[in-house]
Amino acid sequence: MRIVVLTGGIGGARFLVGVRAHARSIGADVTAIVNVGDDVRMHGLQICPDLDSVMYTLGGAADPERGWGRVGETWVVKEELAKYGVEPSWFGLGDSDTATHLVRTTMLNAGYPLSAVTAALCERWQPGITMLPATDDRLETHVVVDVDGERKAIHFQEWWVRHRGEVPTHNFVFRGADAAKPAAGVLDAIAGADVVLVAPSNPVVSIAPILAVPALREAVTAGPAPVVGVSPIIGGSPVRGMADKCLATLEVEVSAGGVGRMYGPRAEGGLLDAWLVDTSDEGAEVPGVRTRAVPLWMRDEAATARMVADALELAR
Ligand code: GDP
Ligand code: CA
Repeated sequence: MRIVVLTGGIGGARFLVGVRAHARSIGADVTAIVNVGDDVRMHGLQICPDLDSVMYTLGGAADPERGWGRVGETWVVKEELAKYGVEPSWFGLGDSDTATHLVRTTMLNAGYPLSAVTAALCERWQPGITMLPATDDRLETHVVVDVDGERKAIHFQEWWVRHRGEVPTHNFVFRGADAAKPAAGVLDAIAGADVVLVAPSNPVVSIAPILAVPALREAVTAGPAPVVGVSPIIGGSPVRGMADKCLATLEVEVSAGGVGRMYGPRAEGGLLDAWLVDTSDEGAEVPGVRTRAVPLWMRDEAATARMVADALELAR
């Protein structure tokens, strides 16, 4: 069996730990198609937060408390940059992490596509799944905000990390998406999939930028594999992160039903055949989509693997 997962960073990475565990138990293989909208160049380094969250988490090297970056990280480079007074100073650039960005940037500068760079980095981390960026082309999420009395578009990282999403926010724009092509391997993975799972990642800034790549969206929505989504909202709140702020900006109800309806039924040009919600959200209404309620707290690997088994059952 072949499982494809559309995923963002921290939430998606936790989900993938469960996908990998369940896949091992049934002899399935897993391909993650990872959001690149958060990617940003800082201090000359190409940083891919979601790819790194997935890679470090599955490689057993993620910081469990912070949720991103490396466990046991040190911050000498960041402190030294601050002493030079160079901006941006609000971005957390860890020392061990910096080595990853150096390898990545060197390879990109030498002409390798991001998908090949990701494969090379994964030789060290052995995530146990295939990791693909959604696209090898440049695609960045920008956020239309009002700051200092001025309306402008800022990079997603500036909105998220610097402003904590706490500025008047009007829209999210996926720059470069229209011209972006799926990364090498993405279309083959989707065409060969027995099921496509949508991780309980942020629907607005993790899943939407993946689906903003036109040929990728087309492959998923018109493909042969059933698409099953897992709700990132439990009982009206995002478990971690700021999905509520993102959804509110788009005037989408912050609920399992609200996100399910936003994705919409595949039969009507949407994304989903089926939608897994938490037991506390039983009765969430998503017309045209098969819905089932099971526990969705990703407490540990075993609990998450059970969610995945439920998602696969719902796909049948
Ligand atoms: P990011 O790219 O690092 O922001 O991470 P993702 O977009 O992949 O995932 C973030 C989302 O995961 C959050 O918006 C939460 O709604 C969701 N999330 C986090 N923990 C859980 C959990 O235990 N269960 C469920 N169902 N969703 C979760
Ligand atoms: Ca992210």
